Amino acid sequence: MDIIVLKFGGTSVADNDKLKLVAKKITTLYDQGTNVVVVVSAQGKKTDSLITEAYEISQNPISRELDVLLSTGEQVSISKLSILLNDCGYKAVSLTGWQAGIYTNNVNQNAIIEHINTKRIKDELSKGKIVIVAGFQGINENVDITTLGRGGSDTTAVALAAALEAKDCYIYSDVEGIFTSDPRKISNPKKLKNISYDEMLNLSNEGAKVLHNRCVEVAKKYDIPILAKSTFSDDAGTSINNKIESQKVKSLVKNDELVLMHIPKQNMSFLKLYSLFEKNKIMPIEFIDSVEEFQMLFKSCDCPKLDYMIKQQLIKDNIKVNKISRVSIIGYGIANDNIILNKIIDSISNIDDNKIQKIDINDGKIRITFKEVVSNEILEQLHLNLIG
Ligand code: ASP
Ligand code: MG
Repeated sequence: MDIIVLKFGGTSVADNDKLKLVAKKITTLYDQGTNVVVVVSAQGKKTDSLITEAYEISQNPISRELDVLLSTGEQVSISKLSILLNDCGYKAVSLTGWQAGIYTNNVNQNAIIEHINTKRIKDELSKGKIVIVAGFQGINENVDITTLGRGGSDTTAVALAAALEAKDCYIYSDVEGIFTSDPRKISNPKKLKNISYDEMLNLSNEGAKVLHNRCVEVAKKYDIPILAKSTFSDDAGTSINNKIESQKVKSLVKNDELVLMHIPKQNMSFLKLYSLFEKNKIMPIEFIDSVEEFQMLFKSCDCPKLDYMIKQQLIKDNIKVNKISRVSIIGYGIANDNIILNKIIDSISNIDDNKIQKIDINDGKIRITFKEVVSNEILEQLHLNLIG
């Protein structure tokens, strides 16, 4: 019998009413005669509040224990969903990451799945059960709990779909699929029917939160088509697959959750800086070596760690950290299209030059990095000129 993997995000399981909607989606598919494996995230903003609670106790909570704490969020969701399904007369069983056989490397808070032993899941499916797996977690070789990085439940789902050779993998959230830009930031983005793995990977890497970047990497590697759908509507959603369409702009992302750190070169060598960050298990997403300073770009969720490092280990004076925005325009082959390039230049020509840090032109994406956080109007203007 075919296996289907369904993943529900935090907003989809936020309260009891939403859990009932989720249960309905699951049982409808189960009743059609499919084996169903469900992956769930922590309820609502639970992971955020657990992180805040850890930082209330310590300025630098130790990584191993942070993972023990964060993994509890998903454990609450799987048990509640299983209680509900059993109450509705269905046989369901919840499994934590280790019970589901998800083995990862040793990197706390950013672990990579190395191997999945599917025996337990398959045994439960063969008993006619709906299997509910905690997303975002696994165990390492020391049998310690690890987590996969923020948004990691998507990766759990796609990795399970690959290991179980599932027929389909549906990722449910509160949006109807992948859009030409963030519906919370601009007025009329359009929903895409299809997007290729590479385009989606670019979107995720640039900060679009719809899908975890590693989940797209796994999907591409094992050629698992993903369907991104809404829990709250019957819209067909967006298919993420290996089909590349014509050269055109697919989507625009504005990431406002970036911080740029400027470190003057006096008293600091590259190696010293590198080993300091390595010791603190934090790495920039970009590194720029200019004449007078090192510039390092981080995700703003790394701010608590950065704060701690600056206070404890870096020379406090002269270090500047500022929030910035980056707009990325994503689409296969767009850098080779002069009409698209001209439209981009046109759209940003009336922006004060001092606001723009740099423009990168790559084959599949064009990025405009700003020196400060910029308003959504810039995104709206670019979207209007490039997509309509
Ligand atoms: N609960 C985790 C997070 O908020 C994982 C996930 O939702 O995918 O990042
Ligand atoms: Mg998510």
